[in-house]
Amino acid sequence: MYRVIAETAFSACHQLRDYEGTTERLHGHNWRVVVAVEGRELSPEGYLVDFLQLQRRLETVRTRYEHELLNEIPPFDRVNPTAELLAREIAGQISDMLEAPGVHVAYVRVEEAPGCWAEYRPD
Ligand SMILES: [Zn+2]
Repeated sequence: MYRVIAETAFSACHQLRDYEGTTERLHGHNWRVVVAVEGRELSPEGYLVDFLQLQRRLETVRTRYEHELLNEIPPFDRVNPTAELLAREIAGQISDMLEAPGVHVAYVRVEEAPGCWAEYRPD
């Protein structure tokens, strides 16, 4: 099994509803996102996915959230923009963009603050 990992970061604010029984104050984070994709087969050229392509896909994700209020961006207009749900959402976005057969998202890690992160692993 091969695994390729790429990382991006963006600054965005969010506001969790029903957090400890109330809606928390609007605040920002410098989010760090790590995406790992894996697969068993390499291309004839010897790579799982092209780093540049993966970086381009992460750039699409980054620009979607950079300097935004996450609560305004679907699906977070309906569900809480927690690190966990953001990781799941980004995993879905990256999965939709993967083209190589047999290559899938292994996990997405979203770091909300240094030392505090959530991970989502698609089933
Ligand atoms: Zn927060």
